[in-house]
Amino acid sequence: MISLDVKKKYSIASIVKNSFSNNENWGKMWRNPNPKKHYDVIIVGGGGHGLGTAYYLAKHHGIKNIAVIEKGWLGSGNTGRNTTIIRSNYLWDESAYLYDHAVKLWENLSEDLNYNMMFSQRGVLNLAHNEHDIKEIKRRVSANRLNGLDTMWLDKNEVKDLVPIMNTDNLRYPVLGAAYQPRGGVARHDAVAWGYAMRADELGVDIIQNCEVKGIKTDNYKVEGVETTKGFIKSSKIGVVASGHTSVLAATAGVRLPLQSRPLQALVSEPIKPVINTVVMSNAVHAYVSQSDKGELVIGAGTDGYNSFTQRGGYDVIEETVRAIVELYPIFGKMKMLRQWGGIVDICPDASPIISKCDVEGLYFNCGWGTGGFKATPGSANVFAHTIAKDEPHKINAPFALSRFSDGRLIDEHGAAAVAH
Ligand SMILES: Cc1cc2nc3c(=O)[nH]c(=O)nc-3n(C[C@H](O)[C@H](O)[C@H](O)COP(=O)(O)OP(=O)(O)OC[C@H]3O[C@@H](n4cnc5c(N)ncnc54)[C@H](O)[C@@H]3O)c2cc1C
Repeated sequence: MISLDVKKKYSIASIVKNSFSNNENWGKMWRNPNPKKHYDVIIVGGGGHGLGTAYYLAKHHGIKNIAVIEKGWLGSGNTGRNTTIIRSNYLWDESAYLYDHAVKLWENLSEDLNYNMMFSQRGVLNLAHNEHDIKEIKRRVSANRLNGLDTMWLDKNEVKDLVPIMNTDNLRYPVLGAAYQPRGGVARHDAVAWGYAMRADELGVDIIQNCEVKGIKTDNYKVEGVETTKGFIKSSKIGVVASGHTSVLAATAGVRLPLQSRPLQALVSEPIKPVINTVVMSNAVHAYVSQSDKGELVIGAGTDGYNSFTQRGGYDVIEETVRAIVELYPIFGKMKMLRQWGGIVDICPDASPIISKCDVEGLYFNCGWGTGGFKATPGSANVFAHTIAKDEPHKINAPFALSRFSDGRLIDEHGAAAVAH
């Protein structure tokens, strides 16, 4: 019998060894413990951000008595439902630092976790369809370059060279150019949850699935623990990373967050031969597309126009998206769609996240990622772990404090984040 460690490490030796037993002896990727009565830190939400936070808390800050509590299975939230676009070409300095901190961690994440993230830096295009788009996108390219990011402006012909199947002229909103970030790309979403979970588990983190947190117990503006479907669990530090449900949990501790929860949809087509080797996004016609390694087109739609907690979304939204995609790429006109799904995203008024302490001692929030938090997963988890461990923000997430909604220092990223991504 090989040791648990060897089974979980994906080296050539372990792969050869396991092949002799028909790969039947690989160990479980993480344990399935019963909750203890007390933890030093409880993270609510087993998505990429929550699991990553637990991993960095254990690895970088030496805290070992940690639980991640997840009401369903790991990655069952938006982590396993998104279209996996990764980029850092946001307008404001604060956002550029945060999202590029994440891109830098993505570049080494497979090695760090010894788990293949399938991170593919195939570039991301943001299309311009009118004069306003050109001005806004060129401004963003300049801002990005001042921050040392690899964003550039491409004219129509350069866009056409990159994506020959694109219809640039014969459509309602012609393609006039695009911003291009070559270091952007895609990754395998489930792998992010699984990779962080596996390594956090190795470091002693208890990952408790199928356990819903019903409420956060406080006394005199101090957290005491969480009420769950598996009983009360005590802790003096609680990090809530529950995406669309964060505001509901916050309310149980008497905290009101400026979040709106809405369904956001995506769909994939039947698999086809490689036709598109970059990611193309368009805010104006509200559609974006990439092609998975299996050959499926991965298509993102927009949010519903009203708040809701249904993981579905309206058909009118995907109809509009598909119409825009077919106009941009007439070659896709007869393709069949395989699956469609939705997630519940939590949107802040300035389209930027909250990574912050609050007025209740020991209570921390990482939320408000809206339609675009997958790309930030490693960076967000990394600075959130710092915030919880030190009880003060890392300099990268300091501007993303909850207090910005009372002192007016908003980080308005509607231009860079308006399309669902
Ligand atoms: C269709 C779609 C497409 C997207 N495309 C992109 C994209 O291309 N690029 C990008 O950067 N971002 C994208 N996003 C956004 C991105 O998916 C999210 O911002 C990100 O995954 C959030 O990760 P998370 O770990 O914070 O949340 P989640 O993965 O949602 O994890 C939160 C977890 O908390 C759990 N939870 C909730 N309430 C409780 C409770 N009471 N008790 C215990 N557990 C609880 C949930 O079950 C869930 O597993 C997309 C989102 C959707 C829905």
